[in-house]
This record gives sequence, C-alpha cells and structure tokens, in this order.
Amino acid sequence: MNIVFVSSEAAPFAKTGGLADVCSALPATLQQLGHQVSVFLPAYRQIYDAGIPIETTGMGYCVPVGTREVWGEILKSTLPGSEVPVYFVRHDRYFFREGLYNSNGVDYQDNCERFIFFCRSVFRAIELLNIPVEILHANDWQTGLVPAYLATLYQNGRALGNRTELFGAELYPPQEAQPNRFWNKVRSVFTIHNMRHQGRFMQQEMELTGIDWKYFTFDKMEFYGQLNLLKTGITFADAITTVSPEYAKEIQTDDFGESLQGVLRYRSEAISGILNGIDTAEWNPETDPALAAAYNTETVFEKKPLNKAALQRECGLPESADTPLLGVVSRFDWQKGLDLVADVIPHFVESRGAQFVILGTGDPELERRFTELAARYPNNVAALIKFNSALSHQVEAGLDIFLMPSRYEPCGLNQMYSQRYGTLPLVRHTGGLADTVVGASDETIANRTANGFMSHWGTSDDLQKTVDWAIHCYDHRKEDWRQMILTAMKIDHSWRKSAGLYADLYERIQMLG
Ligand code: ADP
Repeated sequence: MNIVFVSSEAAPFAKTGGLADVCSALPATLQQLGHQVSVFLPAYRQIYDAGIPIETTGMGYCVPVGTREVWGEILKSTLPGSEVPVYFVRHDRYFFREGLYNSNGVDYQDNCERFIFFCRSVFRAIELLNIPVEILHANDWQTGLVPAYLATLYQNGRALGNRTELFGAELYPPQEAQPNRFWNKVRSVFTIHNMRHQGRFMQQEMELTGIDWKYFTFDKMEFYGQLNLLKTGITFADAITTVSPEYAKEIQTDDFGESLQGVLRYRSEAISGILNGIDTAEWNPETDPALAAAYNTETVFEKKPLNKAALQRECGLPESADTPLLGVVSRFDWQKGLDLVADVIPHFVESRGAQFVILGTGDPELERRFTELAARYPNNVAALIKFNSALSHQVEAGLDIFLMPSRYEPCGLNQMYSQRYGTLPLVRHTGGLADTVVGASDETIANRTANGFMSHWGTSDDLQKTVDWAIHCYDHRKEDWRQMILTAMKIDHSWRKSAGLYADLYERIQMLG
C-alpha cells in the first residue's frame, strides 16, 4: 500500500515530544513490512541540525492561503536507518524560526496560517511528485485539515470547482488534466497523540483554509465559536486512532475528552486504539553504550546492580545495594502527577531510608519542590533538573522502581523502557499505562503476569499505598521480584506488532465505499 504520513514532527528532524518518535518509527517499520511510505514535514530551521543531508527537489508551487497565493518549495531527505523519503515543505517566513510552535513559551500568532499552508502544500506536492497515495495519515491538530481537504476540496470534482471559483482557473490544471481519480480513492487516518492540544483559533481564520463556511458547524470544524483543528481532523477522517486502546476509550468520557467527548462518541465506530512501540535498538540494555554494565535476561541479576551503584555514585547518593532506589524521568507537567511523588518522598525517606533520583525539567514549582527535597535529604534525594538523554538511559538501568503516576497518559514510553531494562514501573491505571503494565497482586505474581505496580486513584494517599506495597515486595519477596523483572524484560514492545495493526486498519478503510 502507498501511505503518506503528514506530521508536524518526526525524529530526528524536528521533535518536541513522543509524536516525533511515532512519526519516524512507524513509517520505517511499515516500509519493512513491504509498504511504500513517505513522510511530509515543514522545513523548520531545526531540520538542518540533524546532520542529515537535505536536498532540493527543484519543485516549487503556489497554494492559496485565504485570498493570497503563497509560494513553497519541496526539499527531500531520508529517514535514517530506512529508505523512507521525507519531503519538507519550505517557506522560510513560516517555518525558519526559533521554535516549532512557539518562542519563549509564547505561541506564534500565525500558527493557524502556518499549518493551513503546510496541509495545502502536502496535496500540491503529492500531485507534483506523482506519489500514488492510497492512505493519508495525519497526526494531531497541526494536520487536522488534511482529512478535511481530502473530504471537501479534493472530492468528486468539487475540488476543482471550488478552487477555480475561489482562486482563478489559470493557477490549476483543468479538470481533464488533473482528474480526481487520484484523490477519490484516497482514505484518511487521523491519529490523536494528546487531546489537550487542539489548535483552537479565532473563527476568522476559517477564511484562510479555503474550505466552505458551510462546514463551520458544531458537528464539523466549529467549537464554541472558534475554529478547532483537532476536531476538524476527528470529524472528517475515515478512521481515527489514538495511541493506546485504553486512551481510545477514555477520551470518549467526560473526564478525559477535553470537551470533545461528544464528537468522539459520535464517531465511536471509527475510533481505535493502537499502542505505540518503542525503539528497541536505542533502548536495548544489551548494547546501550550509556550503561556502566550491559545486560540481558541471563545476566540482569549480576549486572543491573552495577548500574544501580554507578547511578548512586553519579548522583552523589550513598552506594547501597539493598536500599530501594526509585525515580522519575519526565517532563515536569501537571499531566505527569509528579506533585504526588513530591508529596510522598518524605514518608519513604524517613520510614525506610529509600532513595530517589528525579530527572526532568518544566514546571518551575515542581523544579523548586524537588530541589528543596534534595537539599533536605542529600543522602536520599537527587534532583537532576535538566534534559539529558544518556542520563535517562542510566536512570532507567539503575533504578529498582520507576514512578509514573500520570493523571492521563495517551501511551507513555518510559514505562516500556523501564520494563525492557528490568526496572519495575509503578504507574497509575490510565491510558497506555493501563495497557502495558500488569500490577503486582498475589494473583498476578502467582500466575507470573505481574510486571510492575498499579495505583488507581491519582491521590497522594493511593500512591503512597502502592509504593509501600512495591517496597514491601522489594524487601520481602525477593524471588517474586526477580520473576517480575524477567517477565517485564521479555515483553515484546517492538513497533512490528503495532505497525501490523495500522496496516490492517489501512486495508479495512481502503474497502470503504
Ligand atoms: P511525553 O511524550 O508525554 O513527554 P513519554 O513518556 O511518551 O511522555 O515520552 C517522553 C520521552 O522524553 C521519553 O523518551 C523520555 O525518556 C524523554 N525525557 C523526558 N524528560 C527527559 C529528560 N529530562 N532527560 C532525558 N529524557 C527525557
């Protein structure tokens, strides 16, 4: 099948979060499965920093943005480790900037216009490059207009009618020369990576999209008087996916729907949840160059303690093999529930002498709380307020227990990295965490399915009880602990399984009339 990925991020070219990892790993894996895949990205300033050659295709074009014609150029590169072509939509006034979406925490005022241009350009570029696309796979609000353009401007000849009407026939090939055979057969998939970020803009921006105002209604693009691009993707796509089965259910409820639960429930039949995989080459304890001692399931009990000792040394904590070492690698954000971790640290330091390593940056209040805890308990708490990838690998390998009590978590990666590194994740029952972790109980320990710990209620009390249970197992159920480590390390988190599920979905929607 021929699949075109449209995304505002793909590693290593442009990344602010997990979206970038999915939009490079998934296309690469689909290609390995035998599909033809290409990726479209904006040509941000950052793409040139990845150290990968980027060429021009020599192709330029104009697309309408409101009443203006805006010029663009297509650049080309390849996803590292694959043969997946990456096409960049270049217009430096829009994309050659300090950040992807904002500078110094302030969103760019023209974000709507930037991504309208991007989405329109993708259609034009596919025509120019002659890509025989069958599936257009869009991701998050930045590309929410892709399913909408496909379903409006690019369907059944109406597209040309509209475009001619609005922007002048001379700019576009006549209908005979550019028949819609092409677009009529194309189906769209829209993946939601996080419901929080919706791309809401003033309704005047609707004019810039070139889509008829008749679609500015509560069941399509309008949301309380605003233009909502996430909603636009949801309402127009042939299929909607999100990054875990549990999150797919949750977002249809009042607690997690971020005010779009109604429209999601309306489209319930089209929604499915497919778990993200992880990069099993980058996150492999057997070959990880960042580790003090590499290991696998055969050597974990001999070598993992060396990593624990190295981490304790690195963080200035006393070296102690029998002290439970707990920790976090995370953005400091309300979503992640780290305030609860800060709440419970004193109890476990004082009652058990437990140690904590916290690696992350973000919310200044959380940075302050963890720094203060480290000052108060210098032998027990290390607060590493920075972003450091090598260190994140060392933390994953060195800890006994990884804490991830997220308030919501569309998929989450760190719990899977932890499992692969034989570090038991302690998570809250939400989203992808609920799908990937089997919490230890007498029953799951006995049937050898336990691979972590599960907290349910998202309160400090509940987290404290769950950590208490985890430390009890660590101290008193050593054989069970070892079994849980082995169960966790043997889980298959590779992208192959998930990519296969996406391929099945593409085939199903291809058959839609
Ligand atoms: P989210 O995408 O919501 O931030 P995920 O768990 O899906 O959460 O992915 C976060 C990614 O960012 C992981 O790869 C994690 O290791 C990495 N990360 C977060 N904070 C840091 C940090 N301070 N240093 C290094 N890596 C970090």
